[in-house]
Amino acid sequence: MQYHSTRDSSRQVSAAQAIARGLAPDGGLFVPDVLPRLELEELKALADLDYPSRAAAIMGKFLEDFSQQELRTFAAMAYGSNFDDPAIAPVRFLDDETAVLELWHGPTCAFKDMALQMLPHLLTASLVKTGEARKVCILVATSGDTGKAALEGFRDVPGTGIVVFYPRDGVSHMQKLQMVTQEGKNVCVSAVAGNFDDAQSGVKAIFGDRAFADALSQKGWFLSSANSINWGRLLPQIVYYISAYCDCVNAGRLNLGEELDFCVPTGNFGNILAGWYAKEMGLPAGRFLCASNANNVLTEFLETGVYDRNRPFHTTISPSMDILVSSNLERLLHAQCGDKATSGYMSDLSRTGRYALDDAAFTAIRRDFYGGCCDDAATRDEIRRVFSAHNYLMDPHTAVASHVLCRYRDKEGCRPTVLVSTASPFKFAADVLSALGRPQAQEPLAALASASGMPVPAPLAGLETRPVRFAGCVEADGLRDLISGFLA
Ligand SMILES: *Cc1c(COP(=O)(O)O)cnc(C)c1O
Repeated sequence: MQYHSTRDSSRQVSAAQAIARGLAPDGGLFVPDVLPRLELEELKALADLDYPSRAAAIMGKFLEDFSQQELRTFAAMAYGSNFDDPAIAPVRFLDDETAVLELWHGPTCAFKDMALQMLPHLLTASLVKTGEARKVCILVATSGDTGKAALEGFRDVPGTGIVVFYPRDGVSHMQKLQMVTQEGKNVCVSAVAGNFDDAQSGVKAIFGDRAFADALSQKGWFLSSANSINWGRLLPQIVYYISAYCDCVNAGRLNLGEELDFCVPTGNFGNILAGWYAKEMGLPAGRFLCASNANNVLTEFLETGVYDRNRPFHTTISPSMDILVSSNLERLLHAQCGDKATSGYMSDLSRTGRYALDDAAFTAIRRDFYGGCCDDAATRDEIRRVFSAHNYLMDPHTAVASHVLCRYRDKEGCRPTVLVSTASPFKFAADVLSALGRPQAQEPLAALASASGMPVPAPLAGLETRPVRFAGCVEADGLRDLISGFLA
């Protein structure tokens, strides 16, 4: 199977090339030429397999230049004892109609591990397959969860280095601790003076700097990105939608072939898009509920067909969804309207900050997606409500989705639905404690453990006492020097 850019269908590349390059040369995102089919018979067979075997089988349909043996080896390494639940992505049932898909049992306690534990294997193999002799340096600007998940995924992976920049004024205490205590020989972490935009525009400028790229190339390195525009990050996410469906059938909650809705806390639109791809392949999924916080640009888009990023940016208690430009939406546009129209929308977006979908594409998207949002107060209420009604503790991102699901059911009635849970509540312990109405504690992790009766996840438990390896902070114009020094 070949891949092409969302902005130009005429030039094709292999899966390995798409993963090695990350972004297409025209600025578009790589998508497969056709989606492989998933028949009910196959789904039934997948239901008998464990998570790594499901992953190898499903990813194999997209990666013709990888052998099943290779993919099975990668899946065994990516989804093993680095997760604290043998099911890897377990499904819990809140009631007859509601399942929670927990995607946070990996090493950083957030859903990005599902893709970033797999990406390094796919990427390093892709470099070999495409004949790339240089080593790859992964460059990340992070507002929180991605940086840590990428560090854990790439640490000590041969032939790679990873440099992560986080805004000095703009990550949570826990997120910062997770990064500055990172272990591994090939990792580098630094704060950047300023906010996330300063860090991100610094990194973007480096990606566009030819002279810098040439200088690194002389030293045997090239730069790549681990953010969710890479096909190698999206693909592993398709797996857990299919896996969750299998688990609902296995638990006797759903008949094979019956429709299942999914409600997803959304930022960059990568997670929810992977679910939609699974539906397009043939998974009997119904609708995808796209849940946003106060940054509700997607809610408005799904209501009006107009995407407009010209609006205030809100800092919320679900920070991984504080996003105004959802880059993976481009892949959905391409699937609905093709490369010409997508290029047009994307140039409107970069020129004016907005674009308006044509009616046919909007109608098609509305059939499969519904958008809803809520603010921080409603998020806190939902954490408290679910905990007292079901004795189930949710993180703020998951609670946004749970709230949106409740309001949707008020209007549309109750259908079997998977609520996609993207972070451990312990990762946001202070906010979750206050949502439960508990006083702020010196040690929020311990306080939340005693309030909930749940154990603190091991990766977070020892953080406060782990040695800090990366205390430095650079000015926004000092990023290149730091990278050069690290790769020397
Ligand atoms: C990244 C993230 C999201 C948003 O996922 P997208 O793929 O960007 O839509 C939601 N919740 C958590 C906890 C995250 O880390």
